[in-house]
Amino acid sequence: MNESVRNTVILGSGCSGLTAAIYAARANLKPLLIQGHEPGGQLSMTTLVENFPGWPEGIQGPELIENMHKQAERFGTEFHTGHLHKADLSKRPFELSVGKETILTKTLIIASGASARWLNLPNEQALIGHGVSSCATCDGFFFSGKDIAVIGGGDSAMEEALFLTRFATKVSLIHRRDGFRASKIMLDRARAHEKIEFLTNTVVEDVLDVSRKEVTALKLRDLKTEKIWDLPVSAMFLGIGHHPNAVAFGDQLEKDADGYLVTKDYVFTRVPGVFAAGDVQDRRYRQAITAAGTGCMAAIEAERFLEEHGA
Ligand code: NAP
Repeated sequence: MNESVRNTVILGSGCSGLTAAIYAARANLKPLLIQGHEPGGQLSMTTLVENFPGWPEGIQGPELIENMHKQAERFGTEFHTGHLHKADLSKRPFELSVGKETILTKTLIIASGASARWLNLPNEQALIGHGVSSCATCDGFFFSGKDIAVIGGGDSAMEEALFLTRFATKVSLIHRRDGFRASKIMLDRARAHEKIEFLTNTVVEDVLDVSRKEVTALKLRDLKTEKIWDLPVSAMFLGIGHHPNAVAFGDQLEKDADGYLVTKDYVFTRVPGVFAAGDVQDRRYRQAITAAGTGCMAAIEAERFLEEHGA
């Protein structure tokens, strides 16, 4: 790896980071992109993506990411795999500790995303993309005319359940308590919907059936009666929240109560020269196209910053 001070380091290899890399590389900034423990981000965990403009027949998530990677590479992006464990944004150039390396950079684009929370069930990971999903907008369409389960008791779960009623014959909303974090309006809307059935005080023990490479049922446990039973469904959507990947920055950057980076004018953090893009700063839209959009903005702002402060 080139040891000198970088113009731009991009943290994250999802579609936000890769879009930032394409723009920064085409602006001749020779960006270094650091990819961490979930290379390709959430798109690399989905199957068919049908809502990314330009792909009328849809495109597989991993293929879309691979294309973006090639595009970023073609214009001179350098890639480095490692985990950022410390960042010092108080000095210039900024100092990033990635594995055993120290990387110095004049500008930083944080596009480290948010990771969906999973239930950590024995069969869960094996069925991601085969009926287990954390994104109703992405995958709901594939379960038209099927029975579906949504897990969670917050606004995300209500929103997913309501969205999925467009496709599903029935949506079982499974929540571990009988109290809900969801706002009253969202909860009331879900409760009033004829296709949504609430199963409270219920937890998922496992998801079946790995041998068929598709979801056929959930093994559930009623916490009040301890009864264990199988609920036949074709998909399980997790709505139990995300956690933004911004821990390494501590309190150097402004965060909201859940740890999402707070930005002004789309991508500006409170440290000049540090920009944030994609799901690490967006809890509202969380779409591939919006993440790509802010990645583009961050790269343009990094370029302007370097021009103003002497690249
Ligand atoms: P959240 O409010 O933190 O809710 C997460 C839900 O998942 C909780 O009900 C929690 O149960 C459950 N959960 C967490 N871990 C679990 C586990 N291991 N097993 C079973 N259940 C588990 O997260 P969110 O719904 O993603 O919302 C995050 C924020 O975004 C909120 O401020 C929300 O208002 C906002 N949001 C707003 C909208 C909207 O306005 N349209 C849409 C989505 C999100 P417990 O309650 O038992 O802890």
